[in-house]
Amino acid sequence: MIDLHTHSLHSDGTDRPAELVARAARLGLKAMALTDHDNCAGVPEFIEACRQQHITGLAGVELSIEVPQGTLHIVGLGIDPGHAELNAALEQVLAGREGRNHQILAKLQQLGYDLQWSEVAALAGADVVSRTHFGKALLLRGYVGSVQEAFDKLLAKGQAGYVDRYRLTPVAAIDLVAAAGGVSIVAHPLHWTSDLKELESRLSELAGYGLGGLEAYYPGHSREETIELLRLAQRHKLLVSGGSDYHGLAVRPAIELGRGDGTLAIPVTLLEPLFEAIGSNGHFYREAAA
Ligand code: AMP
Ligand code: MN
Ligand code: MN
Ligand code: MN
Repeated sequence: MIDLHTHSLHSDGTDRPAELVARAARLGLKAMALTDHDNCAGVPEFIEACRQQHITGLAGVELSIEVPQGTLHIVGLGIDPGHAELNAALEQVLAGREGRNHQILAKLQQLGYDLQWSEVAALAGADVVSRTHFGKALLLRGYVGSVQEAFDKLLAKGQAGYVDRYRLTPVAAIDLVAAAGGVSIVAHPLHWTSDLKELESRLSELAGYGLGGLEAYYPGHSREETIELLRLAQRHKLLVSGGSDYHGLAVRPAIELGRGDGTLAIPVTLLEPLFEAIGSNGHFYREAAA
């Protein structure tokens, strides 16, 4: 069992990187990747923990991409967390988020919601502020009955409190991941579009720009969907990856490391082609046996 898509408290997960690896060891995982949103801050602790726990570990990151339709996330596997160009781009993403956050606050205030920056920031603690924290702040003030209601009424794309933020283009993300020594993987491809024909045409375009692969194994994929995605990868000479998108049981109670929703089984045989593509310059710890 392996898991190549996980989050720590360096983004919106609950576990420290070392706790994540300890949990993986208890569950018997052979390999994993840490793929926090838009930052690599947890990678050094993660790789060191993998070394100590004798688990193969790949340095990773998950990038939110600018696309006309749907949601596209690209996971970079094997990236150098100290890569200057990558870090400069991540800084730009962070700055874009901060500017966007203050615009959301101004919009909500204009709409008559009595909300202060300090209460939103306090909810985020050491985390970067996301729309979820605005939702929680609105909930605490009694303006909505749930965070989901805050999204549905105000914070989701198309609603009155929505403001877009700076994101990398698909080509920029693919180039950046390659420059940082990694391979780029389209995460949860069915979140981009569930229309497999449409997905295939979008992925074949990205393959032309150097996309490495896609996550065929992901919680919620049916057997048939996984098989279709494996075939699609083969037709376009794309690598296959898979992950649970674990965020901690407090954030996603039904999603366990490695096992996902219980039906996930990511074969260890995916590793060899991934390591071959990443090459010896990539950033990872590899156990002799894996
Ligand atoms: P941000 O990165 O600040 O734009 O916020 C992204 C966060 O908002 C992620 O945690 C998403 O899961 C959450 N999110 C985005 N859209 C929705 C939605 N329509 N309903 C509930 N949560 C959402
Ligand atoms: Mn997340
Ligand atoms: Mn994602
Ligand atoms: Mn994720």
